[in-house]
Amino acid sequence: MVDAILFDLDNTLTDRVASVRAYAQRFASHFDPRLAPIDESSVLCDTIMRAYGEGYNAQRADDLNRSLPWLDQPSSAEIATHWLDVFPGVTAARADAKSTLTVLRDRGVQMGLVTNGGAEVQRTKIACMKLGGYFGSVIISAEVGVSKPDPAIFRLALAELGVEAVNTIFVGDHPENDVVGAQRVGMRAVWISSSQRWPVDTVPKPPTITELIQVLAHVPAAT
Ligand SMILES: [Mg+2]
Repeated sequence: MVDAILFDLDNTLTDRVASVRAYAQRFASHFDPRLAPIDESSVLCDTIMRAYGEGYNAQRADDLNRSLPWLDQPSSAEIATHWLDVFPGVTAARADAKSTLTVLRDRGVQMGLVTNGGAEVQRTKIACMKLGGYFGSVIISAEVGVSKPDPAIFRLALAELGVEAVNTIFVGDHPENDVVGAQRVGMRAVWISSSQRWPVDTVPKPPTITELIQVLAHVPAAT
């Protein structure tokens, strides 16, 4: 029996590559007057992808600052601020996110979202993807004061939905924060991977999907 599915947000419901590509366009139009002409637009996109492909950190803004042909060089802080201000609002969902959530809703499965991150940033991403209406519970670490993999954050979502861990599946891309964290509170976990090897030696590889829609195989159709 599956009463509920909880999802991680970043790189689980979001498509990181599509999101960073969308961001690259915004970056190009914002900073264009200050950059030397770049022969191919793909060069700028690839440079930004290399910097931010694994997610944001301050060092990446430094890298970007060094690797682009600036005429009027901004500070790394300015580059970082642009990312933090603009990126959440260009977040792209995985191509199959909406269709997957729609089928789950039609099958009577409750859905929730449990994400680590800042409140405004994560809420902007959810609004940008127009997926918020599917979730009976949205738990953001900054709003509740605990982060994955702390069991307390998973229990908050279970309580809000009124479901038991044993009848709940957690879907996420982070081996420790999502998979191991959810398993510790008694949920089944499904790992959404980009075909990389399961990296946790001490934990058996969980059921693995590479596309979100494949999670439907783990949820019986309504009878
Ligand atoms: Mg994630």
